[in-house]
Amino acid sequence: MNLLLMGLPGAGKGTQAERITQKYDIPHISTGDMFRSAIKEGTRLGKKAKEYMDSGNLVPDEVTIAIVHERLRKDDCKKGFLLDGFPRTVAQAEALEQILVETGRTINFVLNIEVSLEELIARLTGRRICRNCTSTYHVIFNPTNVEGVCNKCGGELYQRDDDNEETVRTRLEVNVNQQQPLLGFYKEKGYLRNIEGSRPIDLVFNEIEDILPIHR
Ligand code: AMP
Repeated sequence: MNLLLMGLPGAGKGTQAERITQKYDIPHISTGDMFRSAIKEGTRLGKKAKEYMDSGNLVPDEVTIAIVHERLRKDDCKKGFLLDGFPRTVAQAEALEQILVETGRTINFVLNIEVSLEELIARLTGRRICRNCTSTYHVIFNPTNVEGVCNKCGGELYQRDDDNEETVRTRLEVNVNQQQPLLGFYKEKGYLRNIEGSRPIDLVFNEIEDILPIHR
């Protein structure tokens, strides 16, 4: 099963991706993760990507398309894949169609997790992260037992610099503008499925399970 996962920051893509890839036994391909590990390993790709990522810009299409192309050629993608964070531009979406056609494949579904802007702002501004083990919490929706202290390791919690309200609003706006043409592209092709993401995690996943066929 060849799937794309879409949704704004804070919509719960990471959580759902984990469940989908486990249940359907397909690799989770996140371009953001691929770039972050290239940066960690200090590769040429990492050095190139870092300039753009640090300034909050998109890595150029040709670089991004090339790494996805290479990744989709690997054996573990034969049974399918879940792409997350790609495509981010219509040029990338068109390139992906081409890559899949070349190998006789097609996208089955584009899962778009929808959450209202007001709720996303509440989710993101209330997010707290452990300095030590990077576990994430929320001051209201998922608080720690002791305020400011991680449940798992006792580490100190902090708020990411870009999780303040003003920056969150800007980030969301940028993402809405990026996502809109892609949603149109996939709606026209008939792949798009909108999922109501403001409900509890299990219910969101149930809706995804209802969309995806049982066989692969
Ligand atoms: P993410 O973890 O998906 O939010 O991605 C982090 C950063 O990686 C983005 O802000 C971009 O700079 C870069 N990036 C990830 N995916 C793409 C993509 N499909 N096209 C261009 N840049 C990307």
